[in-house]
Amino acid sequence: MTGPIYNRVALIGLGLIASSMAHAMKKWGLAGSIAGYARTTETRAAALEIGFCDAVFDTAAAAVEGADLVVLAVPVGAMSAVAAEIGPHLKPGATVTDVGSVKQAVVEAVAPHIPEGVDFVPGHPLAGTEHSGPHSGFATLFQNRWHILVPGSARPEAVARLRALWEAMGANVDEMDAAHHDLVLAVTSHTPHLIAYTMVGVADHLSRITESEVIKYSAAGFRDFTRIAASDPTMWRDVFLTNKEATLDILGRFTEELFVLQRAIRMGDGQLLFDYFTRTRAIRRGIIEAGQDTAAPDFGRTKPDKG
Ligand code: NAP
Repeated sequence: MTGPIYNRVALIGLGLIASSMAHAMKKWGLAGSIAGYARTTETRAAALEIGFCDAVFDTAAAAVEGADLVVLAVPVGAMSAVAAEIGPHLKPGATVTDVGSVKQAVVEAVAPHIPEGVDFVPGHPLAGTEHSGPHSGFATLFQNRWHILVPGSARPEAVARLRALWEAMGANVDEMDAAHHDLVLAVTSHTPHLIAYTMVGVADHLSRITESEVIKYSAAGFRDFTRIAASDPTMWRDVFLTNKEATLDILGRFTEELFVLQRAIRMGDGQLLFDYFTRTRAIRRGIIEAGQDTAAPDFGRTKPDKG
């Protein structure tokens, strides 16, 4: 138990990521009090009922009054409007951060609204599930996951304090610039999601198969695609609209690789396929050795993945 790192925390948006942060801050005593704002009365009521917020407010402006840390946890496309609303109400010396999946677009949307004397330290937890909303959060979501900070011109002491919060919630913290973040995430998260959406879309178009066999026989690779393709439509629409360049770059490379494999299949080039799959298998081993996934068969599905 480290004691509160921030006296008053305001969460703007009360979905999966914000509610998980709140559960973690409460579990490990990291915030003196937690104020919250969400768009709908249903979500605000749920936050109070579940008990991860001490108080909820009808406006984002009211929620950030007196806050030492403000966390923007809304879809990337909503960041600009929320930042414009809270800007004039931020306490001098406060820190503003976000958890958006794209960083350059968030910096452009939020930074102009941050007043002098307030530090803006963008961030992105590389943790999530395909579930969303205030009921989906849990305290251990960030355990042994990476959290990327984009410090920009923020004061080092503000960055260090935010780093301490994420470490106390169980995350490993790294720092990088926004453009690099967006390229790395286009490879590791954004393009794979697009491919999963596409694969499930292909099956959907083959409706004769979809109606019966796809569901019945989905124990194989397709099931993992459907899990990813069940992710929140608003969040992922915003990710692709705002990380356009990097996603298109990686998608171009993906298409070239796909044609290489397509040609090998057509030409019966088994050696190429075997060598390619041997290299990709080594990447999977590396991920397991780095503790970023389980080596258990079937991704350890028999165990609950919530803590
Ligand atoms: P979520 O569960 O869908 O929750 C989103 C929250 O934002 C809700 O409280 C919602 O309010 C509010 N909201 C939605 N649209 C809004 C708008 N136009 N104006 C004001 N508030 C709005 O989302 P999440 O998964 O926590 O994602 C939040 C952020 O974290 C996103 O930027 C996302 O890119 C990022 N992120 C997500 C994951 C993931 O796996 N899910 C991982 C890392 C980072 P209502 O409930 O009242 O509608």
